[in-house]
Amino acid sequence: MLSNLATRDVETLIHPYTNLDAHRANGPLVLERGAGVHVYDTEGRPYIEGMSGLWCTALGFSNPELVEAAAAQMSRLPFSHLFSGRSHDPAIELAEVLKELMPVPTSKVFFTSSGSEANDTQVKLAWYYNNALGRPRKKKIIGRQRGYHGVTVATASLTGLPANHADWDLPLPGFLHTACPHHYRFAEPGESEEAFSARLADELEALILREDPDTVAAFIAEPVMGAGGAIVPPRGYFPAIQAVLARYDVRLIADEVICGFGRLGTWFGSEALGMSPHTLSFAKAVTSGYVPLGGISVDEPLYAAMVDQSAKLGTFGHGTTYSGHPVACAVALKAIEIYRRDRVVEGAAEKAPHFQARLARLAEHDIVGEARGIGLIGGLEIVADKRSRAQYHPKAGVAARCVAFAQGEGLIVRFLAGDRVAVCPPLIITPDEIDDLFDRLTRALDRTRDWIRAEGLA
Ligand code: PMP
Repeated sequence: MLSNLATRDVETLIHPYTNLDAHRANGPLVLERGAGVHVYDTEGRPYIEGMSGLWCTALGFSNPELVEAAAAQMSRLPFSHLFSGRSHDPAIELAEVLKELMPVPTSKVFFTSSGSEANDTQVKLAWYYNNALGRPRKKKIIGRQRGYHGVTVATASLTGLPANHADWDLPLPGFLHTACPHHYRFAEPGESEEAFSARLADELEALILREDPDTVAAFIAEPVMGAGGAIVPPRGYFPAIQAVLARYDVRLIADEVICGFGRLGTWFGSEALGMSPHTLSFAKAVTSGYVPLGGISVDEPLYAAMVDQSAKLGTFGHGTTYSGHPVACAVALKAIEIYRRDRVVEGAAEKAPHFQARLARLAEHDIVGEARGIGLIGGLEIVADKRSRAQYHPKAGVAARCVAFAQGEGLIVRFLAGDRVAVCPPLIITPDEIDDLFDRLTRALDRTRDWIRAEGLA
């Protein structure tokens, strides 16, 4: 029996990334408030928010300083835009702070309201850049199988997940995908991580040569794949990939939407994984998720080309109403001030060994094939047979069931395609709360195993 609110939800809302058929019977989990790493539903039941919402609330819930920063900016200048050369101090100040923080050669910052818009801007600028340089054929963009970069027509094309392509008439032409760097799933028997990385770099080179290097503009990658399954690349992966890209003058775009602002125990994921991108996209934790904000770094060669184009064409024809929204910028400035003052990023690095040790212990569970992670992000791969690594039939919905059991245990985690479960708690989580999280997750796995046996799946 659904509650009143739940019934109204089912009658009125389309939910993103939801099985809309199952939702009619199951209804929503309606949350009412949050505090620290916990959120509370309408019955007052607490849950550890083990996903930081959607990989974003790094500072947990109801941080009073972020609330105050938003309220102060709301009262002072709730809206202004950056079109036609207009400006405001929160956008200028935030761009300055980001230029200092981002581990890429940054001349300027361009703001968006989401990760999808940030990556969409990356695609458009890759095209615009090569037009400006008189290389109109150099336009193709390479993403990776299981990569996730957003849902606009272009960014869903960059994404390498079947649910974003099938029946959406995507990817668009000119968007290519190379292999997923998941050693557990795709390495040959006995292949070392380094050898696997070298093989993937060879495959990328073969793809670029097959397509013609003069037609390939950019390669986009998340430092750690998030929605694709919390997949940490094998040792040596980015250096090997970057050597190939450099040979063919292909720009590297780092999608730091999840990894940016401390998730891996470094300010940006690129720093943890030997990645040297030309540009990066950020969103999510830049405001701790409290207000929508995203953006990209623009390096000097790209900026110079943009200025040249403007000299020729006039207006730079790109930007949205909310690019550099003053309230979002004010909240981001406060979030970054807190990350620095409270050593949140260093704190994440200090807590990471404990988090990863608890995560690694789950690999011993009967139904877990691999438990992998870095910093304060982790992923589990549920398998039907640990030796052969065989998976359950996708229709059995085993990971979804595990996530539902976790919810029953007062823990929110997320299931991803391929029977994967992701964990990504607020960076402010304490060691005791990390233990609590993994105790609950272990009980959820036990209940999933018992359910599998009762259903006769194994
Ligand atoms: N890139 C990555 C790596 C992401 O994880 C996401 C969102 N989960 C996006 C891009 C898209 O961001 P948004 O949902 O804000 O459009």
